[in-house]
Amino acid sequence: MEEVLKPDLCVIGAGSGGLSVAAAAAQFGVPVVLIEKGRMGGDCLNYGCVPSKALLAAGKRADAVRTASTFGIDVIEAQVDHARVHDHVHGVIAAIAPNDSVERFTGLGVRVIEAQANFLDKNTVEAGRFLIRARRFVVATGSSPVIPPIPGLDEVPYYTNETIFDVSERIQHLIVLGGGPIGMEIAQAHRMLGAHVTVIDAATILGREDPEAARIVIDRFTDAGIMLKPGTRVERVEKAVQGVGVHVGKQGETEIIKGSHLLVATGRKPTVKGLSLERAGIVFDARGIKVNSRLRTTNPRVYAIGDVIGGQQFTHLANYHAGIVIRNVLFRMRAKVGAAIPRVTFTDPELAQIGLTEDEARTRYRRRIRILRWPYADNDRAQAEHVTHGFIKVITRPDGRILGSTIVGAEAGELIQLWVMALAKDMRIGDLTGLVLPYPTLSELSKRVAYTFYQPTLTKRWLRTIIDLLRRLG
Ligand SMILES: Cc1cc2nc3c(=O)[nH]c(=O)nc-3n(C[C@H](O)[C@H](O)[C@H](O)COP(=O)(O)OP(=O)(O)OC[C@H]3O[C@@H](n4cnc5c(N)ncnc54)[C@H](O)[C@@H]3O)c2cc1C
Repeated sequence: MEEVLKPDLCVIGAGSGGLSVAAAAAQFGVPVVLIEKGRMGGDCLNYGCVPSKALLAAGKRADAVRTASTFGIDVIEAQVDHARVHDHVHGVIAAIAPNDSVERFTGLGVRVIEAQANFLDKNTVEAGRFLIRARRFVVATGSSPVIPPIPGLDEVPYYTNETIFDVSERIQHLIVLGGGPIGMEIAQAHRMLGAHVTVIDAATILGREDPEAARIVIDRFTDAGIMLKPGTRVERVEKAVQGVGVHVGKQGETEIIKGSHLLVATGRKPTVKGLSLERAGIVFDARGIKVNSRLRTTNPRVYAIGDVIGGQQFTHLANYHAGIVIRNVLFRMRAKVGAAIPRVTFTDPELAQIGLTEDEARTRYRRRIRILRWPYADNDRAQAEHVTHGFIKVITRPDGRILGSTIVGAEAGELIQLWVMALAKDMRIGDLTGLVLPYPTLSELSKRVAYTFYQPTLTKRWLRTIIDLLRRLG
């Protein structure tokens, strides 16, 4: 016999987006049902951001040992214990898991149902032995890896982000299909931990990013011995004596790359399977569920957020969506999406972006933009830390309005925060030159690049002298 629940809000999916909606609603005392078919915390905690950053952290430690001699410290070679690296990664997940747990959410007043949800009609969701007729529904079911139709792939063992972090033995040679952020982060982590790594991409490596910034990352990969194969098509895959053989073709030439492990990181698809969205009148396609600027689906009772709506896929974006939905559903505000969303690829060096890239700005504004740059090599802290590879680039309108910022280099993911704020608050470049920042920090890169805005227009000698003086004072 099914039990009928009639909460104000029913959230499907307990990942980054769903948990944020449920927690906020519960804190405002709204009756909420949260349905999760898998692990609480979704992709980010279990198979995404958290394990990938934990693995990279381990890799960076091993790399720091290898490069310690640059600082005059000689260390015997790094000994990587892969089982303990695996324990570290899963220890980090376990440390964060209580925040996303059934116990915590039940404690907040959320009714958590651990089952697969599907729509029965426009107003009803079924999950396990429950029928939920909520005032509003939020679909936050995330995304899953795309498995390309490569001949032979279904006959060889391969990994995705859902399984690669379970590997606890030493990987001899990791072949990564896909040179996007996910593939590149995992590739570099394994290289740093001692594996041979080959990354194959049918198009461009880090193809979405500013090419100049991507080049810095690519050069680092190549220097570290990672084999990068852009513009390379995988023709088929077969079992090899110890692992897999990947047949690739480039400009008429073919080659077999043999590896011990194969990771498929060729993109993401929205998780809509099993939801019976058609029964609820919710329109979707291969890119995701269709929503309007308030994140409402074609069923006015239902909102959709996070990876399942396609477009950019980030935890902070799913959280942002959650805020929009909460304002619409609980406070009846007509909040709309529209903020600039930052992104970071957490390789070493990191690559961070907010707003328009140089190419995007040129397409939109042609020559009516200014490009400002400052290299890491001209930052004293970067010199002290031996992290001189990289740059900050800022794109403005001629009047100083900031359009975007690209940072590639150490801590780029932290340095971008100032530019996130600058864009969010619609600051002018001059607002940043007036800041007093602590010396010596990488943050000074932002102030330095802002100063360059005034360089070509300075005609008055006395003004140039003052600016030079200020610059020297930091
Ligand atoms: C390897 C990797 C690294 C990443 N690194 C970063 C990073 O560094 N920074 C960043 O911002 N983003 C990162 N991401 C992206 C980030 O993980 C996602 O954008 C984020 O998890 C999306 O949140 P979500 O709530 O939309 O979906 P998810 O977190 O995937 O949650 C969806 C949940 O819905 C559940 N579900 C699905 N269908 C049903 C159903 N029918 N019934 C009940 N439950 C259902 C699923 O089990 C899942 O738990 C990474 C992703 C990957 C794969």
